[in-house]
Amino acid sequence: MQQNLNFITKTIILFFGVTIFSCSNQNTEKDNVINLKPKKEVWNAGPNFNVDSAYSFIEKQVLFGPRIPNTAKHTACGDWLVKKLNSYQLKTSEQIGEVTAFNMSKLPLRNISGIHNPNANKKVLLCAHWDTRPFADRDSVNKNKPILGANDGASGVGVLLEIARVISKDSLDICVEFIFFDVEDYGAPQQTNGFFDLQSMNDTWCLGSQYWSYNLKPDYKRPNFGILLDMVGAENAVFPKEEISRRFAGFHLNKVWKLGEHLGYGKHFQKKIAPPLTDDHTYINQIAKIPVIDIIHYDIRPYTGRFDFGHFHHTHADNMEIIHKPTLKAVGQTVLNYLYNQ
Ligand SMILES: [Zn+2]
Repeated sequence: MQQNLNFITKTIILFFGVTIFSCSNQNTEKDNVINLKPKKEVWNAGPNFNVDSAYSFIEKQVLFGPRIPNTAKHTACGDWLVKKLNSYQLKTSEQIGEVTAFNMSKLPLRNISGIHNPNANKKVLLCAHWDTRPFADRDSVNKNKPILGANDGASGVGVLLEIARVISKDSLDICVEFIFFDVEDYGAPQQTNGFFDLQSMNDTWCLGSQYWSYNLKPDYKRPNFGILLDMVGAENAVFPKEEISRRFAGFHLNKVWKLGEHLGYGKHFQKKIAPPLTDDHTYINQIAKIPVIDIIHYDIRPYTGRFDFGHFHHTHADNMEIIHKPTLKAVGQTVLNYLYNQ
């Protein structure tokens, strides 16, 4: 680091020296002063993200009960999501398929899409998963019972529904596709002993986005970039710069984080770099080759010194009690304003 700074200082001195020397024959010295400071970002304002509305969308999903593929509650919630997207005049469609889970069970798959302003040139993808984990394998009690997934699932979808509501009223002029991915959270439970193939274990997650990425139609209008939301509702959530996002979509990652900080949400949008994660964006980046960033609650746990998800992750504590409106507001307003800066 020190070496880099010395190099930059020397370069600046050299550059200024050359600039002043070479300017001596020019009209005025003032015209030729070069400002080496990075340009201050100028951000357009966006419309208000109504956090009460987003909260009510999360509550509504949780009221359906656990949204586990192949169950009536899951179907009912899916029908409601389609109805909501239709009510915002989005062009809705569903991708129906079948996937094989880690335990070899066959699961029906329902990815739900809604498109705002389909004919505009610029297109942004906003996505989240709407299914919930069928068991609480990180809890100490009732490990085999399903979780409610207020944060892990419903929070991302709730924030996106509110963004859909706002932009449809406000006539945002770019195209935005909302996708609610199914079967994200049906992955193999973590092994605590023995050997396992890490890659194939990872690939048991995000089955909906994998299916979507492998089955894009040739005439699909590809988004310029995308933003994935996952676990965006807990108090004091920390969103680090996750490695897959940085590698495939670093430009947008840095911009969104800068905008979050500009809006006063720097305590959530932190500059720390986090190791790569398997999440829906991983497959969209790698298979579909659409640059997508992940806004996900993932932080260093004080007692282990390692990155991990919140204490509620895949436990029965993931219910409405942990949903905190200021966090939803930070994420929703930042993503909404980012759309108005394209
Ligand atoms: Zn999960």
